[in-house]
Amino acid sequence: MTTTEAKSPVTIRCVFCDKLNRVDMTRAASRPTCGECGKPMLLDRPVKVAQDDFDKTVLGAGVPVLVDFYADWCGPCRMVAPFVDEIAQKNVGRMLVAKVDTDRAPDVAMRYGIRSIPTLIVFQNGAELERSVGFEPERVKALVQRVAG
Ligand SMILES: [Zn+2]
Repeated sequence: MTTTEAKSPVTIRCVFCDKLNRVDMTRAASRPTCGECGKPMLLDRPVKVAQDDFDKTVLGAGVPVLVDFYADWCGPCRMVAPFVDEIAQKNVGRMLVAKVDTDRAPDVAMRYGIRSIPTLIVFQNGAELERSVGFEPERVKALVQRVAG
C-alpha cells in the first residue's frame, strides 16, 4: 500500500480478489486501494475474518478490533448486525470491526470459549480486553468509545 511506516497497520482481505493487504488505518480517509486488483479497500464496514486470517488480522492489528462472533442461523445475531455495521461506519480509521462466522472458524471460537452467540469481543494489542454476550448496545457503545475515542 504505502512505503512509509504505517502508524496503525491492519492486514485485511480484499473483498474483490481475496488478496491480503496491509492498510494504514490512519490513512483510511484517503481511500486506500487493493495492491493486487486496485479496487477500494472497504473500511467503513465490518470485514469478514476467516479462521486462517484471525491471528494476522485481529491479533496483529495496530488499532483496537471489535469482533462479532456470529452464525448465519442465529436470530439474535441478525439483530446485532446493523448495530455492528454502524460502529464500523462511525469509527473508520480508529477501529477495525470484524465478523467471525463461528461455524466456519470453530478453532477460534473454541480458543476464546464462545459458548453463546452473538458474542462481541474487543481486542487490543493482540489480547482480549472485554466481551459482551447477547445484545448489550449501551455497554458495547461505551466500550467502543473507551478504546476508539
Ligand atoms: Zn483486490
